[in-house]
Amino acid sequence: MIIRFLMLAVGLFAPTIVWAAGGVVQSPTGVAPERYVYYPGTEELAKDEIRLIACGTGLPAARRDQAATCWLIELGNGDKFLFDVGTGSMANLAALMIPYDFLDKVFLTHLHTDHWGDLSTLWAGGWTAGRTRPLQVWGPSGQTPDMGTAYAIEHFLKAFNWDARTRNFVLSAEPGKISVKEFDYKAVNAVVYQENGVTIRSIPAIHAGDGPVSFILEYAGLKVVIGGDTFPNRWFIEYATGADIAIHETFLTPPDLVKFYGQSPGQAIIVGTMIHTSPQAFGKVMSTIKPRHAIGYHFFNEQNTHDNIMQGVRSTYSGPLSLAVDDMVWNITKDWIVERMIVSPDQAWGVVGPNKPPAPPAPGSVPNPISDFIKAGRWLPAEEAQAPMVDKFKKDNDLK
Ligand SMILES: [Zn+2]
Ligand SMILES: [Zn+2]
Repeated sequence: MIIRFLMLAVGLFAPTIVWAAGGVVQSPTGVAPERYVYYPGTEELAKDEIRLIACGTGLPAARRDQAATCWLIELGNGDKFLFDVGTGSMANLAALMIPYDFLDKVFLTHLHTDHWGDLSTLWAGGWTAGRTRPLQVWGPSGQTPDMGTAYAIEHFLKAFNWDARTRNFVLSAEPGKISVKEFDYKAVNAVVYQENGVTIRSIPAIHAGDGPVSFILEYAGLKVVIGGDTFPNRWFIEYATGADIAIHETFLTPPDLVKFYGQSPGQAIIVGTMIHTSPQAFGKVMSTIKPRHAIGYHFFNEQNTHDNIMQGVRSTYSGPLSLAVDDMVWNITKDWIVERMIVSPDQAWGVVGPNKPPAPPAPGSVPNPISDFIKAGRWLPAEEAQAPMVDKFKKDNDLK
């Protein structure tokens, strides 16, 4: 609201004053009253406000500039929900410096790595950096049990068995657990979560195989639709209509898939127009459902690709639009939607939350994963070299 007002003010008084980004600097020693940036952890949300953060907007192939899909939704009631946690996205998420206990609810649209590849980082990283309780994961079933989320998480934990067993010796096992709530991928607008004034529903998506879904979150009379990978589908048209924010993929154009992604023309036309959503089709979806604000994502957003996508979208949609990049943030209320960019540190640490960490396992209760053979290889001069430092630390902290 303040920003909007200042934008109006800019138009009225522009010739006579000095402009900082988003505000008026009244004197050489003054500060800018507003900037088009969000500094994480510095703003409280109003009770009926939503903050949406793009923690990943890219593709399965890694790129430092754009991680794979991850959306964080923060609500005025204190709840936080992750929608997908794609490869690389945890670096953006961690830079928000939110205690890991507040990042324990993850909703997966589907099981392609670019939508859950960094679950390992949230799981183990959060475990070592202060999460005190298990992660909770909601995700769709598949055509057969082995294509569903419960199977994926069970075998995820098996794949990371060595990781878990070695951590269990020194850390409480509790934060290393994952509870799974698998729901029917075919259910249409069915409630998958309802608590504390928040309702999250799922609708089927059409993408690569059976299983993918999109989510609809409702809170304080506001509706945010988080579209997973999909060809435009009738469920999205029906249930995303009237959304305050509608997020939907818009994929690279077939010529750009050939030029930049190395795909053959035959492959590009299938990927870009059948498994995913072309810019023209994205625009058609948005001009049909008419959200207050549309967000397109799931492409490497750069000078080479942006205009081609924008032209396609604008051929079928003229409403409010963001083509997302990582670290975009939207604040949403009934009266206004403000988009800004996040400014966050590259060297963020985990922030401790209010919950007391669970006690480490009692000595002897968990088998030592290091054998006597390996222990016997410890090089004693190293023990001697660190002994004074170790003794001092133990004394300072009353450790035995
Ligand atoms: Zn996918
Ligand atoms: Zn994807």
